[in-house]
Amino acid sequence: MTLQSILDEIRKRPGTGEVIPVIDPVTEDQITEFTDCGEEAVNEAVARARAAFESGVWHGLPGRERAKIMWRIADLMDQYADDLAELDSLNTGMPLAQAKMIVPTCAEFFRYYAGWCTKINGTAHEVQMTGGISGAYADMHAYTLKEPYGVVGLIFPWNGPVFNACAKLAPALAAGCSTVVKPAEETPLSALLLDRIITEAGVPDGVVNLLTGYGHTAGAALTAHPDVDKIAFTGSTEVGKQIVQASAGNLKKVMLELGGKSPVLIYDDADLNMAILMASMGIFVHSGQGCVCGSRIFVQRGVYDQVTEGIATVANSLKLGGPKEEGSNIGPLISHKQLTRVMGFIDEGKQDGVEVVTGGHRLDRRGYFIHPTVLTNVDPGMRLYQQEIFGPVVTITPFDDDDEAVAMANDTTYGLAATAWTNNLSRAHRIAKRLQAGTVTLNCQLVFDHSVPFGGYKQSGWGHEFGREGIEAYMQTKSVWAQL
Ligand code: NAD
Repeated sequence: MTLQSILDEIRKRPGTGEVIPVIDPVTEDQITEFTDCGEEAVNEAVARARAAFESGVWHGLPGRERAKIMWRIADLMDQYADDLAELDSLNTGMPLAQAKMIVPTCAEFFRYYAGWCTKINGTAHEVQMTGGISGAYADMHAYTLKEPYGVVGLIFPWNGPVFNACAKLAPALAAGCSTVVKPAEETPLSALLLDRIITEAGVPDGVVNLLTGYGHTAGAALTAHPDVDKIAFTGSTEVGKQIVQASAGNLKKVMLELGGKSPVLIYDDADLNMAILMASMGIFVHSGQGCVCGSRIFVQRGVYDQVTEGIATVANSLKLGGPKEEGSNIGPLISHKQLTRVMGFIDEGKQDGVEVVTGGHRLDRRGYFIHPTVLTNVDPGMRLYQQEIFGPVVTITPFDDDDEAVAMANDTTYGLAATAWTNNLSRAHRIAKRLQAGTVTLNCQLVFDHSVPFGGYKQSGWGHEFGREGIEAYMQTKSVWAQL
């Protein structure tokens, strides 16, 4: 019922651009279609967001009132959890059980950040300057105010549609910002239901404005818009760089959560069964379409053959299929474009002499499925070793000691995540310090909590999401001085 009404609603959304098909990546059939909203819709959405912000209808509410509405969003998300999961599963092809596991976590973003609404405060400062210019005044104090940026554009990718939307919306709303939301053109469906939920929960008109359109049209217009104060973007490093350039017109602030090429180090003293299983899932889950997926595995030489064989065995045991196919635990890639891109990396690697331990081919069936792929004998200069593939493809390389492992792990322009598997406690923490990544996981992978900051080093991003840093990203600091 909800599903069909969303498929109908998106068809009817006004637009002026191209008609964009929404494709089921499992069957390659069209699910529905919509019209690119066009630049005029972007201007209108920004104007609505600006009017709502200037009226104070949202940020002017006491924090406890914003918090109550955010709790209602979370409660409604729980109520519609099956529908949200079904929409994401249909749209991305991820197993329904996986989508059902993720949605409650997304609702929790609103509860977590609802708690912050009543804890936004600045700091008071005793002014110590007795000489110089300030010294002209006998008695002074200063304090800071934390204020919402204003109108923020939220742009995110297709790999976790509800998750990506909530990770940005919850802190932005808690901070008091007005928002213009642009989901990926491949996966706009769950954002429509989320939009309905937000309205039903009582978020005032104009505070959340949804755009449905392409990145190069709607996204680009939003990013360049002179009346947008900040862009919070999750997506590829390539588009992140375009966003920085497009934002220069009004020097809008930019937060970027970008790509990764995350290393996983497995030492001979690790719990190898656990390391093999988790390192395998750490790349093959969601067909490798996760920003923190560990796509470069480094194994201490003595256990290299054992670990490589173990990971290949796990890869071969995974059952690829659609959400409705019994027993399937891994879905397809999102699109034909992505399938072609990933196969391009694999084919180039084969030509350049990499060894395909397992996989390396598309499944002989409908849908954008690639067999989980393990590659060895990879040269560090190869494109597939350096660039983010965002597919179920992992390279495995041996190392002899800490220095070599760290040097290889850090030999990348990315710095999103890194992992070490070792039972040597001192080594684990020494290595954590040396790895150039915004998140380091020790003897675990794919971990997440709303309270733990997440952000990229190097070309994996600017700024942080989650935790205190997550709400501060949507606030600016004003210093107020007073002569007493
Ligand atoms: P993408 O960069 O192509 O697109 C992301 C979003 O940006 C989409 O909504 C798209 O429509 C929009 N967009 C595209 N061109 C634009 C432009 N010129 N101006 C404004 N917006 C534009 O990324 P993708 O292929 O959809 O997603 C995969 C990428 O996302 C991977 O690189 C992955 O690592 C990254 N990602 C990062 C994180 C993180 O937290 N660091 C999380 C998930 C995904």
